[in-house]
Amino acid sequence: MEPITINNFTIYFENQGFKTLNKWIKEHQPGTIFILVDDKTMENCYPYLMPKIETTARIEVIEIDHGEEFKNIDTCGGVWSAMVELGCDRNSLMINLGGGVITDLGGFIASTIKRGIPFMHIPTSLLGMVDAAIGGKNGVDLGNLKNQIGVINGPVMTIIDPEFLKTLPQQHLVNGSIEMFKHGLISDRVYWNDMKASHNFHSDHFNSLIYQSALIKSDIVTMDPFEKGARKALNYGHTAGHAIESYLMEHPDRAAVLHGEAIAAGIVVESYLSVQYADLALDSYKEIKEWYNTLQLNLSFTDKEVLEMIELMKYDKKNTNGAIKFVLLETIGSFVTNQEVSNEMIMEAFQELIN
Ligand code: NAD
Repeated sequence: MEPITINNFTIYFENQGFKTLNKWIKEHQPGTIFILVDDKTMENCYPYLMPKIETTARIEVIEIDHGEEFKNIDTCGGVWSAMVELGCDRNSLMINLGGGVITDLGGFIASTIKRGIPFMHIPTSLLGMVDAAIGGKNGVDLGNLKNQIGVINGPVMTIIDPEFLKTLPQQHLVNGSIEMFKHGLISDRVYWNDMKASHNFHSDHFNSLIYQSALIKSDIVTMDPFEKGARKALNYGHTAGHAIESYLMEHPDRAAVLHGEAIAAGIVVESYLSVQYADLALDSYKEIKEWYNTLQLNLSFTDKEVLEMIELMKYDKKNTNGAIKFVLLETIGSFVTNQEVSNEMIMEAFQELIN
């Protein structure tokens, strides 16, 4: 698979990625290589990676607990301190080996320690491969509010190797696939159809769908690195989806959902709004709803809960001047940005989740 270049960094695939990593290390001679992992990627991914790294440099592995609840500034504090104690300097390299939590957090830590050291992402979850490790956004949550603190700063390179997916639990494979479906919805009807037809996460065909998804995201980020226009489309489903995620995090009495699951529900809500405000055909909405139903998430919210979520949507970073701005679909494959909608219609859209 050909490398994909986004502005000033490149995504490499499989063995070509590890070869390029070794070449970079040889040329730049980092004094210390820090590898950030969580307990799961330490167990499942580190043993696969280590024999591939050729270096005499000192390697320090820093392990954190897995899970979104650790993507915060307290965890950064612990990792910053450990790195300083272990002699981190501007000549160090950081490799983030994990899912989106590790790449978001590790990218932020590397961008800020010593005013910034080079870092590489090796995503090990499907969501990381097709989304989180592409595009240079990194950062942490603030309380229950997602991704409020962070910087846009690209890695030296990202290496995608679907071999890591062999140990990823099924629920997380489904979770990552939601962003791939989203890529089809915003930019490519044929890709959406291909995703719907694909059921085997470990086939060569699925690897090529991962490649295409990485390409779709990269093309959009290249056009708009700082989210002034087209990149907003990547947030399709996320205005409502992030509110669902934050709301459920604040209400531990309700069953938690994964990021992708919340986004899938957000996609339905925003597709319903697309019919009302952006002329999305009703048949296209029904097709999207049918896909959502196959996920069997069974999410439902009362009007009171939706009102609380509308408050949470006000923190969305796409908003300006306090108004909630949505990305909406005009067709499967094309979108409009900066759409304002009424609270009543948002409530109606949420009720559609259970229909
Ligand atoms: P995650 O990093 O928590 O990974 C999911 C789970 O899978 C974790 O328990 C992890 O330890 C485990 N895991 C990862 N790879 C594994 C493997 N190969 N084998 C076994 N277990 C493995 O979550 P995620 O779904 O990868 O990412 C979600 C995060 O990504 C969220 O914080 C979200 O905000 C962020 N994100 C960022 C961007 C961006 O542009 N920066 C885009 C989308 C999502």
